[in-house]
Amino acid sequence: MTVILLLSVVFILPVSAESSGTSDSLIFSVSGKTNVVDPQTATMRNSGSVIDYGPLHIPKIVIASSDAMKASGTRAANTEIYDLVTFNSLIPVRSDTVTMPITLYGQTYTINLKKSNYDDLGADGRDSYQGTISGMSDSVVLFTVTDQNLLYGTVRFGNQSIVIYPVQNREYTARTVMPLHVVYSEKDLLQPSEPVPFCGNTDNMTSPPLITANSELSATRGGEYDWAYVDLLIVTDKNFYDLEADWIACAKDYLSEANYQFQRPDIKVVLRGSYLVSVQSMIEMSNDPRSVTDPYQLVMDKFPKEYLIMAQKDVCVYLGGKDASPTSPGYEYAQGMGANRHTWSQMVEDNSPGMYDGNRHSRVYNFIHEIGHTLHAYHELAYEWWDLVPPFRHITVMCGMYIGDSIQWDFSSSVPEYNGDATHDNAFVIRVYKHEVAALA
Ligand SMILES: [Zn+2]
Repeated sequence: MTVILLLSVVFILPVSAESSGTSDSLIFSVSGKTNVVDPQTATMRNSGSVIDYGPLHIPKIVIASSDAMKASGTRAANTEIYDLVTFNSLIPVRSDTVTMPITLYGQTYTINLKKSNYDDLGADGRDSYQGTISGMSDSVVLFTVTDQNLLYGTVRFGNQSIVIYPVQNREYTARTVMPLHVVYSEKDLLQPSEPVPFCGNTDNMTSPPLITANSELSATRGGEYDWAYVDLLIVTDKNFYDLEADWIACAKDYLSEANYQFQRPDIKVVLRGSYLVSVQSMIEMSNDPRSVTDPYQLVMDKFPKEYLIMAQKDVCVYLGGKDASPTSPGYEYAQGMGANRHTWSQMVEDNSPGMYDGNRHSRVYNFIHEIGHTLHAYHELAYEWWDLVPPFRHITVMCGMYIGDSIQWDFSSSVPEYNGDATHDNAFVIRVYKHEVAALA
């Protein structure tokens, strides 16, 4: 450990002049490494040439929110709630610790990051980092960067949650030196007009966990407060593979968010990812009609228990690239499903307006929620409370409905510093079951 620390270099980026464009007003930028692209045209004129970014997948809810603010006069007609930017060599040397200056709404801050790869990829040019803004202990910074100048991540401070992610598809990203990203603050987004039923809005558990029986399980495999390592096989279909700039970097970002929750001292689970890169497998997933009618059954059939045991994976996570319409009774409204050893999480927005919006917040909720089911967490133990002024509803992640920002990503817990009580304690359920799940393969 000491050797690793001595060898690691604290990399301090030079604070250089601001890049092109109006960086002062940008939501997020990194000095000298951020370029602004005009959202009206989504083209960057560089030395006389225009870059073709191809079709962009900025979530509809982001554009609708921007349009609504302009229509109400809250924003000037020629401005958007989001920025389009590109990054140049954000973290060129992937040291274990990195210190870098950033700007948020024109204010300069320093962020301190530590490398946090939760996967078996090795040095493949994609690295996840976790850290804080210097001097703001309750801030959170999660970045996943790649050698292709991609950044997936978030900066959270105060009541702000700023998100950054690429919006070009795989094909156009591959031919763009500095790919395009969207940046926005989640507080600027419109919220779903009504709760969106999730997991078919029925619980996967037939009965609440029996504490006595499971204490025996825990006793043979490790204590409640010992770490458990759950190995995930993350798979996708050709649709999501083609849609995302880099689907593995995207999945790594969501895995970072999940680990941020699961590694809490009252849960103590590490989720380790590995990714099925076979394009043939992705094509088969997309070609199967069940990718629309029953994606959960599809992933169970394609990667059955025997496959997972051979691959030494505990749980298979399917990031679905289609707007699914499950036909099974009770699951007509599902955008995600998870139980036993499989999860399916829809990564794209529903066509129905006001429904599941497929932005980063909804995707991360879906990802964490369904993995939560595989660790036996369930809807009925989600914890709900209200801010009185202004009235605002909060619910922890196992809530069986998607309600936009009201959905938090944390698990309910009876430990006082978290949200929950003795009868709303999914953290306890996960502690009881985690060693059993970690021992599946
Ligand atoms: Zn659920």
